Amino acid sequence: MPAARHLLLVGAGHASIAVLRDLAQAPHPGLRVTVLTPSASLSYSGMLPGIVAGGTDPAAGRIDIARLAAAAGATLCLDRATGLDPDARRVLRAGGAPLGYDLLALDIGAPPASPAADGVIPVRPPDALLAHLPALDAASSRPAPFHLAVVGGGAAGVELAFALAHRLRARRAATGTDPATLSLTLLPGPSGLLPGLLRRAASLVAARLDACRIALGPPARAGIPRAGQIPLDDGTSLAADAVVWAAGAAAPAWLRGSALALDPAGFVAVAPTLRSRSHDTVFAAGDIAGFGALGVPKSGLYAVRQGPVLAENLRRALAGLPLRRFRPQRAALYLLATGPDHAIGTRNGLVVSGAWVRRWKDRIDRRFIASYAIP
Ligand SMILES: Cc1cc2nc3c(=O)[nH]c(=O)nc-3n(C[C@H](O)[C@H](O)[C@H](O)COP(=O)(O)OP(=O)(O)OC[C@H]3O[C@@H](n4cnc5c(N)ncnc54)[C@H](O)[C@@H]3O)c2cc1C
Repeated sequence: MPAARHLLLVGAGHASIAVLRDLAQAPHPGLRVTVLTPSASLSYSGMLPGIVAGGTDPAAGRIDIARLAAAAGATLCLDRATGLDPDARRVLRAGGAPLGYDLLALDIGAPPASPAADGVIPVRPPDALLAHLPALDAASSRPAPFHLAVVGGGAAGVELAFALAHRLRARRAATGTDPATLSLTLLPGPSGLLPGLLRRAASLVAARLDACRIALGPPARAGIPRAGQIPLDDGTSLAADAVVWAAGAAAPAWLRGSALALDPAGFVAVAPTLRSRSHDTVFAAGDIAGFGALGVPKSGLYAVRQGPVLAENLRRALAGLPLRRFRPQRAALYLLATGPDHAIGTRNGLVVSGAWVRRWKDRIDRRFIASYAIP
């Protein structure tokens, strides 16, 4: 009987959960599977704005990785990768001996590299963001003006600005402090507000920011906050008591030291099949994958869509079959939570907004979470 082959999934992100579900539904004979990831659950990005705003229970937005791994017959190793030797097929990790593999799938995300400065709140991992909220609630409820800045004009920054404005003003009102003395500025960065989105939808978001009394800062690059000021590269600065940093996607430094082909920004260079351009035994999906000319946006939407392709291609690679290509959808449905009772959506040039769009988004998000609730 041939020795079992070993599939190592590093990072239980929005794409690799589809691999686990696929293996739970149809086990692959002769395959040993290990999941190396630091957390036994994944916070679904679509539900985070509702959790931050306060209307959604954090548990409702979590996918149970431990349960999914068990259903897939996989060993869950709660640790983080710290190095990779793709020639020797070994992954180094923080808390134990290296793990060997026959096939490796990387889905470790690319969290914004938030500067380590006082008053800066990171948005990733989601639990770190949620852990900062009680202190932010307390600081912003004091009877003095409070200025919060959110850095990042992508989906994460925009959704968080709306969610935090609602949350903190409600807390302030509940403690008898004038909610109007809390000000919030969204600093979109040099590319401006939602550069990948249809202009009409971005304008609607800008109008909604205005209606919710969220100031939109200039399209300038934010530097490291110091002494209550965020320097901007247009020569100005913004005063802020706290800063939520949701700008950019950064690849981890430990990948740079490996022999794996990376793109200029340090993301894993993959073919449209999600296979590494340098090593046949390595696949990457989600934000950590660099698609080059295919120009796939780094967003949860696309990570989720890569999941079934990753699952199928890992099976195909094991069987020595030709791989399938990931084709980014041209008419992606984008739904942005612009407050707890409001969302803006766009698809195929059509832009919709309102409370019903928010309810629609919520139904889609909850259906997605439910599809990973393995009995
Ligand atoms: C507040 C917020 C709102 C957002 N809203 C949207 C939205 O509405 N629509 C949208 O499309 N996108 C949204 N995004 C972006 C979206 O969250 C990311 O694009 C998406 O999570 C990327 O998925 P991923 O699978 O690449 O990585 P992730 O989902 O980040 O998963 C990475 C996994 O790898 C693990 N990991 C990390 N490092 C290591 C390591 N060294 N070793 C092992 N495991 C590791 C992590 O713990 C995690 O389990 C939002 C992001 C934020 C922060």
